[in-house]
Amino acid sequence: MTPVDRRTDPAAGTDSLLQLTEAPPLPTGPGATRCLAHPQELTLRGIPVMCSACRARRDWLLINHGRNVWVICRCSNQWLEPEVTRADFDALIFFPDGTLYPSIDEALAALGFDGTFTGIYLD
Ligand SMILES: [Zn+2]
Repeated sequence: MTPVDRRTDPAAGTDSLLQLTEAPPLPTGPGATRCLAHPQELTLRGIPVMCSACRARRDWLLINHGRNVWVICRCSNQWLEPEVTRADFDALIFFPDGTLYPSIDEALAALGFDGTFTGIYLD
């Protein structure tokens, strides 16, 4: 087998680019933004979370970035929830599905938390 010189062989460069697009590394560590569907009620200190905009009581999306966790409702209302810690989030995310989205907005649209399903529980 002949060693490939990546500086002069254009095919070698293409291959490595292709590998990057086909298998992006999963985001991990404190800088990653992760999201988690939470179809059930979310109870904090014994009180079920309720959306202040549409009064929904379940079917949330939780987004974690750094130490912060946001709760997003189907109506697209969202708020920082200091009662949910990163450790809580880690405990809930048993099976991360590995889906990557280019931005939070695209994730919210793809997962149905952009207001399209306001007033509807999807389970
Ligand atoms: Zn709502």
